[in-house]
Amino acid sequence: MTLDLNLNDLTHVVAADREHVWHHLSQHKQYETTDPRVFVEGKGMKLWDATGKEFLDAVSGGVWTVNVGYGRESIANAVRDQLLKLNYYAGAAGTVPGAVFAQRLIEKMPGMSRVYYSNSGSEANEKVYKMVRQIAARHHGGRKWKILYRDRDYHGTTLGTLATSGQGQRAAQYGPYPDGFVMVPHCLEYRAQWDVENYGQRAADAIEEVILREGPDTVGALVLEPVTAGGGVITPPEGYWQRVQEICRKYDILLHIDEVVCGLGRTGTWFGYQQYGIEPDFVTMAKGVASGYAAISCTVATERVFEMFKDAPEDGMSYFRDISTFGGCTAGPVAALENMRIIEEEGLLENCTLMGDRVMANLNALMEKHEVIGDVRGKGLFCGAELVADRKTREPMDEKKVQAVVADCLSQGVIIGATNRSIEGLNNTLCLSPALIATADDIDRITDAIDGALSRVFG
Ligand code: PMP
Repeated sequence: MTLDLNLNDLTHVVAADREHVWHHLSQHKQYETTDPRVFVEGKGMKLWDATGKEFLDAVSGGVWTVNVGYGRESIANAVRDQLLKLNYYAGAAGTVPGAVFAQRLIEKMPGMSRVYYSNSGSEANEKVYKMVRQIAARHHGGRKWKILYRDRDYHGTTLGTLATSGQGQRAAQYGPYPDGFVMVPHCLEYRAQWDVENYGQRAADAIEEVILREGPDTVGALVLEPVTAGGGVITPPEGYWQRVQEICRKYDILLHIDEVVCGLGRTGTWFGYQQYGIEPDFVTMAKGVASGYAAISCTVATERVFEMFKDAPEDGMSYFRDISTFGGCTAGPVAALENMRIIEEEGLLENCTLMGDRVMANLNALMEKHEVIGDVRGKGLFCGAELVADRKTREPMDEKKVQAVVADCLSQGVIIGATNRSIEGLNNTLCLSPALIATADDIDRITDAIDGALSRVFG
């Protein structure tokens, strides 16, 4: 069927979407009886869909992305001007926005040194895995080639990054995977795996146990999210990160922090790892780097790592033999520069901390009222409430009921998120990650919507 498309005719647009777009993470059977939602416009924290309905977006574009909010004219203008000047050149050469943004970014990341541009979080992480393999081949005689990842963490959709998926359902149907990726236990104390007092230390020691089992000379890197996102908004227990860092140093294991969600302010500091005093070897970032105004991701490395790719220039194999075609687009770094300026000039890190505290206070108050909230976790504007069928046994709430809470909020015009389709039996955490511009009124409206939804679904 061909549609005579008139972009002003939103009925046709919705029909075109229904006929021809294959949506991400979606079971399309539902669109035999309902229309897909098509968003048309955004301003600040608000969105409008093709039916004209208005929403308050408590998840920054669905997946923790639009950190500075919608409709930023200054970003659009900066991108427009740059595109007219120079839209692209392949990354073997430099561009003005690429150089300037790299410098500005490194100023925010003491100890880090080099920025490698690509387009998505998956790609940025995959670059690290390749770098680790190349370091193993050239500097460790082929040893230290394994990469450890953590249960419940997530690092992307490619086969390489899915090989490091701690969320079983995402990876289940796409194997076999490449060798050398080994899982370590998660650190969520609410779902404790050890009955000990110093849980953070114990959960980190579990990583050392895996290293010893695998053989320290086979392990090259450890990839972790500073605060786990889709795996259930897992904030690390006291003492965890300090011990993780010690373990990495002890066994000469490169520490790769996946900041795809936390990066650029989500937790109230520029990066999540800066909340915990971590000194990483690699940092990857994507979503909030340009708040979704352009596609950009960065793989950031220390000078020590970078130097390892300069060891024997004459043999033609020692440099990093990788390219990302669209890593040479200038729209990404120019949007990222303006995004960073906005965060700084509008004091959005401070606002994030302040409003994050308000979300946590409101969620804790809701926990007093609603038995189904078993645990509340968060850092900055990155918060979650885990729903349980039974507070004593901590039996996870049925996923369908969790989705009913999300749907009820939606019908009230508030978009919230939930961990879903990722971890068998544990898709039970409501997720809140509003833009860093959120006001106290926005926060209260979001948590009021959850309050109403919980009363209706479980009342
Ligand atoms: N790492 C983390 C922690 C993520 O949450 C995501 C995306 N949700 C990715 C990596 C992958 O990013 P992308 O979808 O841009 O490839």
